[in-house]
Amino acid sequence: MIHKVLIANRGEIALRILRACKEMGIKSVSVYSEADAQSLPVQLADEAICIGAASAAQSYLKSDRLLSAAELVGADAIHPGYGFLSENSSFAEQCEACHMKFIGPSSETIRLMGDKIVARKIAHKVGLPTIPGSEGALSDEKKGLELANAIGYPVIIKAAGGGGGKGMRTVYNAATFTKTFCTARMEAEKAFGNGAVYIEKYLEEPHHIEFQILADSHGHVIHVGERDCSLQRNYQKLIEEAPSTFLSSSLREKMGKAAVKLAEKCGYEGVGTVEFLVDKKRNFYFIEMNTRLQVEHTVTEEAMGIDLVQWQLRIANGEKLTVRQKDIRSAGHAIECRINAEDPEKDFLPCPGHIEFYHEPGGPGVRIDSHAYSGYTIPPYYDSMIGKLIAMGSTRDEAIARMSRALNEYLIGGIQTTIPLCKKIMLDPVYRAGGVTTHFMKNFLQRTDGNKTKQRRKK
Ligand code: ADP
Repeated sequence: MIHKVLIANRGEIALRILRACKEMGIKSVSVYSEADAQSLPVQLADEAICIGAASAAQSYLKSDRLLSAAELVGADAIHPGYGFLSENSSFAEQCEACHMKFIGPSSETIRLMGDKIVARKIAHKVGLPTIPGSEGALSDEKKGLELANAIGYPVIIKAAGGGGGKGMRTVYNAATFTKTFCTARMEAEKAFGNGAVYIEKYLEEPHHIEFQILADSHGHVIHVGERDCSLQRNYQKLIEEAPSTFLSSSLREKMGKAAVKLAEKCGYEGVGTVEFLVDKKRNFYFIEMNTRLQVEHTVTEEAMGIDLVQWQLRIANGEKLTVRQKDIRSAGHAIECRINAEDPEKDFLPCPGHIEFYHEPGGPGVRIDSHAYSGYTIPPYYDSMIGKLIAMGSTRDEAIARMSRALNEYLIGGIQTTIPLCKKIMLDPVYRAGGVTTHFMKNFLQRTDGNKTKQRRKK
């Protein structure tokens, strides 16, 4: 039985995990860097322990310190959250070696699915459609060029170890392939310690649709529906929703079955996400599997009425899934806006700093997952997300109306945030019509910047 969980993370996700622990009567321990001493998870957890200096490399990424901290406080499990060490198979392996339950799949599953090339091969082998591209890592630029010419441009070069929208480059013609390929390989080596790259056909205006998996340690696997994460900027998700307006019920069933099959074949345990791209003709293709809790798990929780973090803890405890696939039904529509401390007017420049005033929205159908508060200073060392605003409704229109209303109530003084941008998107007719593709943001920014230029000219 798990009695005490050490949360190897920070910010809103640390808060989310400790909330689940408290509701289940499990003790929670927050770890923190010197820069996070005043953070909310540190104040709200049952115990807190400092693990090092501000930089992530000196604290949240130090596996030995995390394990020592867990032993010191007498924890029996470690929840890695997302980011940091959540998809690090050697950290999971170290936990296994110390008999410390790592809340997630086995180190072996993380290792296999964490390498995008291996994951692509496994998905292909078990019959999931994959995007035309290289079978394995490309050994040199000559082979890459030959394959790109055969597939046809545009192609996308991806890093096997890439993640978080990083390590991808699009090539539009043979003339620029070699240079881009060499740069991509060098960057991959530097950023991910793994220079292996592969190529895929670059799909024009696809939809990013991912399925939430829940798998217990007794071989039962279900999916909890999909999330549409097509609204992205620079391959990074900005606004997510569930269900997707682009899927018919038969396509949903087909994709859900494919996701479950993959999880079953790789002996999956815990929560995981199988990501797909869907093209204009509604052909779907596997792109990768994330072996951890996603930032956007909240939209599934709200749309499907399920607590995924509590399920993670139950599964880690060896409990069997009590929900069956046939019980999984949508309870409404949910939308999540990521609230980042960034200035959309200045090319999304991160703006950490002191929050002078902070007021969260409330009322029907509104959820906030945030570690921010009045007087909190956002440290400059980590990512810029300071919260997630989730709105629910019985229909998509109702969820949009609630989101617009809640964004107007969300008052954050002292720093710039993405709230004004989210407000504009909620009012945008293209967004409101549904079915946005991954190119929405580029077009939206051009359209709205275009308006500004026109207005300036009129003046
Ligand atoms: P990461 O692991 O960095 O998140 P993914 O492989 O999940 O990378 O892809 C992130 C995003 O990049 C996708 O949601 C999509 O917008 C874009 N993308 C990835 N592969 C392709 C492709 N073959 N064609 C078009 N867009 C792609």
